[in-house]
Amino acid sequence: MRTVQVTTTSGELGFLDEAALAGFRASLQGQILLPGDEDYDSARTIWNGMIDRRPGLIVRCADAGDVAHSVNLARYHDILVAVKGGGHNVAGNAVCHGGLVIDLSSMKAIEIDSARREARVQPGCLLGDLDQATQAHGLATPGGIVSTTGVSGLTLGGGFGWLSRKFGLSVDNLISVELVTAEGQTGTVSASENADLFWGIRGGGGNFGVVTSFRFRLHEVGPQVYAGLIVQPFSVARDYMRFHRDFVAAAPDELSVWLVVRHAPPLPFLPASVHGQLVLLIPFLFLGEATEGERLMKPISRFGTPHGAHVGIASFTGWQKGFDPLNAPGARNYWKSCNLNDLNDGAIDSVLEYTQKFPSPHCEIFIPHLAGAVSRVPADATAYGHRDAPFLINVHTRWESPADDRRCVSWARELFDALRPYSAGSVYVNFISDEGPERVQDAYTGATWERLVDLKTKYDPSNLFRMNQNIKPRA
Ligand SMILES: Cc1cc2nc3c(=O)[nH]c(=O)nc-3n(C[C@H](O)[C@H](O)[C@H](O)COP(=O)(O)OP(=O)(O)OC[C@H]3O[C@@H](n4cnc5c(N)ncnc54)[C@H](O)[C@@H]3O)c2cc1C
Repeated sequence: MRTVQVTTTSGELGFLDEAALAGFRASLQGQILLPGDEDYDSARTIWNGMIDRRPGLIVRCADAGDVAHSVNLARYHDILVAVKGGGHNVAGNAVCHGGLVIDLSSMKAIEIDSARREARVQPGCLLGDLDQATQAHGLATPGGIVSTTGVSGLTLGGGFGWLSRKFGLSVDNLISVELVTAEGQTGTVSASENADLFWGIRGGGGNFGVVTSFRFRLHEVGPQVYAGLIVQPFSVARDYMRFHRDFVAAAPDELSVWLVVRHAPPLPFLPASVHGQLVLLIPFLFLGEATEGERLMKPISRFGTPHGAHVGIASFTGWQKGFDPLNAPGARNYWKSCNLNDLNDGAIDSVLEYTQKFPSPHCEIFIPHLAGAVSRVPADATAYGHRDAPFLINVHTRWESPADDRRCVSWARELFDALRPYSAGSVYVNFISDEGPERVQDAYTGATWERLVDLKTKYDPSNLFRMNQNIKPRA
């Protein structure tokens, strides 16, 4: 053991001496990784290749006790602390320069109670782990659309995907969590225990503590679902998108249809001549009989002359991995995002203008459609705000070389500025890059924001948990 350099919460240089480290190590079930240790580099590497931070120490926690010891160490020595769930967040807050990373990636147990339709999930699980465990019982809970995303960060920000129109957000299916607070206290947080915190952690991110276990409600899903991808030529994109907004507004909750504008990946069902061309991808999932899904989807499948389609009965777990290849870790990423009250002509025109100037062939614009069950939960029921916005536009700027950073980031910002007059002004907290404190506030309605600040002031007055889309406590 040796003395370790750390960064304090105020950004100054600090030290953990041998005795402090030895005492800490003796209290842990898990592992401490220091610069130079074998797994140190892999543990500090996250999904977004733009983020290259060197923590002072990384604690690979084995259990909730390790999390509490780490929180206590950080608080006692005033060390900057970051919490890593799946490490997928584009802003890169899962790691910090010089501080202590509470790495939850080894805590991956899942228990399914199929009779009660509940899952207990440890915070290092990825969505693919959760889907696999729940689908073994023909059950599932709403999560995101890329299987390598962490359950933790996704849920604490809200969490939506193909099941959300029918069953709501991930937070709408949360029964309780086990939480370690900034004081190092461990306890259950639910509608009946610490209800104020339960409201706050359902959308307020990791601002109030470290979740060491999630308990979710499950629903019957699949294991086979009717789903697929239709690929339209870019030339019909404007007409299709105008048609799409009316189509999805009238669709039942069981049907989710999203839009993606990008260069066509080399999908086997597309003619080779289409690969690499700008196209409109129309992925969908229907929770019901295939014949009914086919009937409902007819207006879309018969729209114009698609380049191709891959539609049919698929395993839900397979479908949940469909977008993984386009979202592999390691590339450089900068996202901009905004909610939309409607998919209006101005937004459509801006998207189509800027997609023709994509700064890299890996960029894409995702336009999910929510509404349904998400919008029927009262706005003040959870900290997740803006349930009334049925669409959002997520600008995934993705490229390979650091030499392209400035060009790619500028493109995303310009598109965002062009979209601003047509957007709702609000944003989903989990899609914010490092964009400053004002943008964090845009993720919440005014009344929600004030309530979140009160909660932060009560439970984390020194802002120990600041490596996140931060809600600052009152002075
Ligand atoms: C390719 C891709 C696809 C995505 N698709 C979707 C989607 O379909 N739907 C959707 O809703 N979102 C989606 N997201 C966004 C996703 O919800 C966020 O990136 C989310 O933060 C990822 O969670 P994580 O645990 O992997 O992140 P991390 O980077 O590990 O953590 C994110 C934040 O949460 C905090 N945190 C993590 N775990 C805990 C914990 N246990 N306790 C307290 N704080 C914690 C971290 O400190 C950090 O501030 C997608 C992201 C990517 C990159």
